[in-house]
Amino acid sequence: MEKWSEIRINSNVSLLQIVKKLPYAKDNELFGHITSTNRIRYLQGEHNWCNCNYSESITFHTHPANYKYTNVPSIRDIYNFLKSNKQVTIIVGDKVIWVIKSTVKSKQIAKSIAKWENIHLIDWFSKRANIDADKYFRFILSKFGFNQPHTAKTNNWLKQIKKLHLSIKLIEKNDQETSS
Ligand SMILES: [Zn+2]
Repeated sequence: MEKWSEIRINSNVSLLQIVKKLPYAKDNELFGHITSTNRIRYLQGEHNWCNCNYSESITFHTHPANYKYTNVPSIRDIYNFLKSNKQVTIIVGDKVIWVIKSTVKSKQIAKSIAKWENIHLIDWFSKRANIDADKYFRFILSKFGFNQPHTAKTNNWLKQIKKLHLSIKLIEKNDQETSS
């Protein structure tokens, strides 16, 4: 089994301060979670994949620097988080960090999606041979007003993700440069 790396943080810090300590790798994804005792635990993922959809209440993952969409969440990230019971997920890009929180309204959307899926999901996929899951995510999220931007511009994504009533905080990495 892979060994978790761990970063310890003082116990009296805010989530935002913890976020600023999250690890980053230029060439591959890292993924992990923040424990209730304020430790960051993480593993290495692949170049463009990580096993980041697991059940901890605050998870994070990073996007490599050379990935075109490094600074925005993927459609899969959005769907998975929305459908999960997690409170917070954090996505660390090359320049921008997204702190995404669920809200009462986003949980209602998740419930509506689950309801729709119970009835229609199998049918939807069976009518479309070899369709990839991202297409489904785009389809289902568009029912709630989300239209996937065709660019990697952070603001375009922000505007769309807000339609899902997720609460977003964007942190520019430049703001957090500290002398070390
Ligand atoms: Zn991602």
